[in-house]
Amino acid sequence: MIKEKTKKDRNTKLRIIPLGGLGEVGKNMTVIEYGNDIVVIDCGMGFPDKDMPGVDLVMPDISYLIKNAEKIRGVLITHGHEDHIGAVPYLLRQINVPIYGTRLSLGIIEGKLDEDPPEYYPELYTVEAGDTVNLGVFKAEFVHVNHSIADACAIALKTPVGTVFHTGDFKLDVSPIDDKMIDLTRIGEIGKSGVEILLCESTNAERAGFTPSERTVGSSLERIFAQYSDKRLIIATFSSNVHRVQQIINASARHGRKVAIIGRSMVNIIGAALELGYMELPDGVLIDISEIKKYRQNEITLITTGSQGEPMSALYRIAFGAHDKIKVTSNDVVVLSSSAIPGNEKLVGSIINALVESGVKVVNDSTEEIHVSGHACREELKLMMALTRPKYFMPVHGEARHLNANRELAEFMGIPSNNIFVSEIGKVLEIDKKSAKFSGTVPSGNVLVDGLGVGDIGSVVLRDRKHLSEDGLVIVALTLDNEGFILSGPDIVSRGFVYVKESGDLLREARSVVSSTVEKMLSGKSRKNKDLNTVRTQIKEDLAKFIYKETKRRPMILSVIMSV
Ligand SMILES: [Zn+2]
Ligand SMILES: [Zn+2]
Repeated sequence: MIKEKTKKDRNTKLRIIPLGGLGEVGKNMTVIEYGNDIVVIDCGMGFPDKDMPGVDLVMPDISYLIKNAEKIRGVLITHGHEDHIGAVPYLLRQINVPIYGTRLSLGIIEGKLDEDPPEYYPELYTVEAGDTVNLGVFKAEFVHVNHSIADACAIALKTPVGTVFHTGDFKLDVSPIDDKMIDLTRIGEIGKSGVEILLCESTNAERAGFTPSERTVGSSLERIFAQYSDKRLIIATFSSNVHRVQQIINASARHGRKVAIIGRSMVNIIGAALELGYMELPDGVLIDISEIKKYRQNEITLITTGSQGEPMSALYRIAFGAHDKIKVTSNDVVVLSSSAIPGNEKLVGSIINALVESGVKVVNDSTEEIHVSGHACREELKLMMALTRPKYFMPVHGEARHLNANRELAEFMGIPSNNIFVSEIGKVLEIDKKSAKFSGTVPSGNVLVDGLGVGDIGSVVLRDRKHLSEDGLVIVALTLDNEGFILSGPDIVSRGFVYVKESGDLLREARSVVSSTVEKMLSGKSRKNKDLNTVRTQIKEDLAKFIYKETKRRPMILSVIMSV
């Protein structure tokens, strides 16, 4: 019996399966499997792109985890950003798994679960950097790293095959706001004792040098506060960047300003950060938004969400004059303490334009160093590789170009190209004591969430939405009497297709096209027994041909035939 088990053990392979975060920005999730045990690192959501109109959120396809639910020993969270925790409520709607993370990460997750109670309320285990937890055959150690959110960790996972080191999102900050530098010593020790494979984030793999310290933002803020001492300051940033928010509050206190927080997620996260001790408030600095009228304009700092131009965020409403408490004038300076995530540039641009048109001075990262990235640039990535000295390397967390840039860095660092695996979501990498190779796939992809429904939007629905948004809709309606003659109509109604008032001729001709189709189809003796579905299809075809000929457009056409 024992002998058999040893033999089986020898044949068991470590399987590394990314379910998201490769070839895309968002929904980071990696499955690590050995025999009867699985751990999952992160459980993030993605964001819809322009090919998914009307979709609110994107979740990873977790059918592999649902199928293997009894093997899952835990979900390990590296940090509290949405692209790492956003799919936790979605996961818990389907399976019950314990979740491990640091205090801030779990604090943010708890907030989500309170807002939207899941099917299964999970066991939440709080860990601190330096802690190790046993999960089946695995031992997971959380290692402190710097990032644009507090309490971020890398994970060193001891497996029967060797150590898997997953960096999470990280940067090297030698002067971080909380004075807790990334634990390079520990990473070096782990490297010395042997790392089988390094899963390394790739976000900034195309950028040379080092990412500047969060503290550089402090000096820029200081300059801005001094320069605009006669104006009200409105500063937009990511709500989860508690160190940034702390620096804004500190600068405000030093310059005798009161601070009001606007935007729901900002209020929530700052609340959690204060409660958990990640932020400290100088006495009497924070005031409620309703109190700002008691102070002069230049005694106020407003901290707000919306730095990515999110429609309906506080900054968006302020910029377009739709905020009920904040109206901006030339007495305001708006500081965007962020950089636009790829894809959001246009939205951010439209906010800047709207503000400038209202006479507001806008300061952003093209004019001042008021944002630094939370991700490692090339020198930091090289440092990570040098310290961990992995046998195998897999770039993660990035689009194809980022993964590839990271692959080139690894080659530069001396990792043989045969030992570098640029993977895809759903692709299985198998590692045993001797070798590593790709071996098959598991189901993976996007589950689209639209309002309250989850996963009920198929490709047909998406295609229709795209079609409607691009070419509009034409509806033909007519009523037949019981003899099969047209009683009323055809009426044509269009939306998003042509400007009706200027298209009288087109619509008139379209009506006569429909009439003649109906006549043609229903002529003859048995007209009242004709199959109306065929008539409907023919109307659509003829009308589509006519419209394309006249307008070179293909609106969606619906035809409705009523018979009395
Ligand atoms: Zn992050
Ligand atoms: Zn991330």
